Amino acid sequence: MKAKAVKHIAIVGAGIAGLALAILVIKKGYRVSVYEANAGIKTMGAGITLWPNAMFVMQKLGLDKAVLEKGGLPMFMQQYDNEGQLKAELDIKEVNRLCGYRSVSILRRDLMTILENKLVALGGSIRFSSAIKAQDIEAIARDVDLVVGADGRMRSVVRQHLFNDSVAPSYQGFVNIIGTAQLEDHALEEAIQDYRGDAERFGIVSVKGGRSYWAAAWATQFDKKRPVTSWYEEMHERFQAWPDRVKAILNHYEPASLNHILVHDIAPLPYWHKDNVLIIGDAAHAPLPTSGQGACQALEDAWHLVTLLDEHNSQERKQAGKTNNLQEILNRFYQSRIDKTTAAQNIGRRLASRIFSSSSEASASSKTDSSQLGASVSANQLREFWMQGLTN
Ligand SMILES: Cc1cc2nc3c(=O)[nH]c(=O)nc-3n(C[C@H](O)[C@H](O)[C@H](O)COP(=O)(O)OP(=O)(O)OC[C@H]3O[C@@H](n4cnc5c(N)ncnc54)[C@H](O)[C@@H]3O)c2cc1C
Repeated sequence: MKAKAVKHIAIVGAGIAGLALAILVIKKGYRVSVYEANAGIKTMGAGITLWPNAMFVMQKLGLDKAVLEKGGLPMFMQQYDNEGQLKAELDIKEVNRLCGYRSVSILRRDLMTILENKLVALGGSIRFSSAIKAQDIEAIARDVDLVVGADGRMRSVVRQHLFNDSVAPSYQGFVNIIGTAQLEDHALEEAIQDYRGDAERFGIVSVKGGRSYWAAAWATQFDKKRPVTSWYEEMHERFQAWPDRVKAILNHYEPASLNHILVHDIAPLPYWHKDNVLIIGDAAHAPLPTSGQGACQALEDAWHLVTLLDEHNSQERKQAGKTNNLQEILNRFYQSRIDKTTAAQNIGRRLASRIFSSSSEASASSKTDSSQLGASVSANQLREFWMQGLTN
């Protein structure tokens, strides 16, 4: 069968995956149409740690310097109990050294601005206020060579199109309150701190210049109707007697940055494409925030997909008639990504279940779970997992 070159790609969703993909495909000379439901780039959310695998992709995007300029360089991750006793420490410098890329913590709004500016600088544009509906997908798919759904975990219409609405995100039993804070104290500039109590957690990631992003989390019933302010009141009550660093965040966070998320993920899916419609990022494999890998895996998807498409197109030019067709390419994309993204999902679930189960349930679970960053996982294990599949 004669393979058709992919020339025009439609991307639904200008989040991390959609913007990264748009930049990479424009750099390769493809035509791209990006549809975004919001009126502008969504900068809501606190921050992201770009681990070395994400920095590998940032380099391919030509954005490693830009994120290094805005972001912080975490050097160690410390895990404490809720009385401030240090329980474990991970040397991030060592992981960086083994991986060959630095880890960078960055505010989400800065990351999104960097991605959007790059796309615009390359001549790309985003069709804002364009909320695509599931019934629009077929028509878009007729007009372009490939439709990529990068429309997130909760309400992906492209996933809905692929699975006839039979896949629903599942609530994982805990709430995250996230925000940013500006502290006077710069002493812990290079740290990621993870405080854990009984089915409660408070994580603080320093960025730069006293700026931090943080997340308070605890096990709770799913309750959509509860007034938003009551979640914030509960957070203050729960964490008011926690170590000084947590108290400092509770006293200095920026109220406008607050957000509460009843945390869902989706179980691994049996496929990510049908015909010329594909999903990537959270739409395809949303892991829990406890994996620390959602954005990193979304970025990896963009890079892997463009690498495979490029191979498809160059083969098409060289040996017309004998090349892989688009279905083979999309199958290869799924095969090359499913194990790693499933591992990230499993790591997120295992760690969440350890943290957010009551202490009796937690002590019954395995004590050698390598998903516990900073506890039993080694720098070498992290390198092996994070850098898997990433070659120049
Ligand atoms: C509390 C929390 C903390 C996290 N911390 C980290 C971290 O430290 N490190 C990390 O790697 N990951 C982290 N993550 C995960 C990370 O945020 C996600 O994995 C990442 O944003 C996924 O990117 P995406 O582009 O696939 O989806 P999104 O970023 O959700 O983007 C989807 C985009 O699609 C748009 N859209 C949706 N529907 C439509 C439609 N119908 N038409 C057009 N546009 C549409 C949306 O408006 C949005 O702009 C965290 C997540 C949470 C909840």
